[in-house]
Amino acid sequence: MNAPKHDLILLGLGSNLGDRRAHLAAGVSALGALPGIEIRQVSRLYETAAWGGPKGQGPFLNAALTLQSRRLSQVELLSAILAIEAEEGRVRDVANGPRTLDIDILLCGERVIAKERLVVPHVAMHERSFVLQPAAEVAGFMRHPLLAVTVAELAHEVGMDGLLAVISERGWFHALGQSTCK
Ligand code: ADP
Ligand code: MG
Repeated sequence: MNAPKHDLILLGLGSNLGDRRAHLAAGVSALGALPGIEIRQVSRLYETAAWGGPKGQGPFLNAALTLQSRRLSQVELLSAILAIEAEEGRVRDVANGPRTLDIDILLCGERVIAKERLVVPHVAMHERSFVLQPAAEVAGFMRHPLLAVTVAELAHEVGMDGLLAVISERGWFHALGQSTCK
């Protein structure tokens, strides 16, 4: 595969606990501050019904972004992501339970990664509208290397199931007063 030197990486973000928008904005800001990371595009916010997990948990705000990483490997980026989640107060108790901030690595260019701690493409991305709708906004052209279809095609297939609202404000991630999108 002729992979570009710095693959375009697609991340999915979600929050359904506390000040959801502030957690997401803090996540974008912290990602943008990592060494050698350049954020390319950030989606709008999508409000979605919680999927799986304990009954009665509140709706999520979801978003997606693309970035390039000039210094950190994929595994180093995952470690940084887990630290950013912890910084936002993420506690892992129940599977699919409420969370202040979840950041998943969806695609790394067209690489296939199968490590103990990191599986890319993300195993469930192709079946989740709350992942695919924001992802299609910023990376519709990216290809899922195992399914050989684009993110836009996957988003079209899963449809809008569970989508409650799209918040049209595009600069939401500047909420902390920091500019992260170059
Ligand atoms: P989920 O996002 O499925 O609700 P968590 O956020 O609690 O679950 O992640 C659990 C673990 O999943 C992480 O510690 C990480 O090692 C692993 N993992 C495997 N592949 C990925 C990926 N592509 N993106 C993010 N985490 C991943
Ligand atoms: Mg996660």
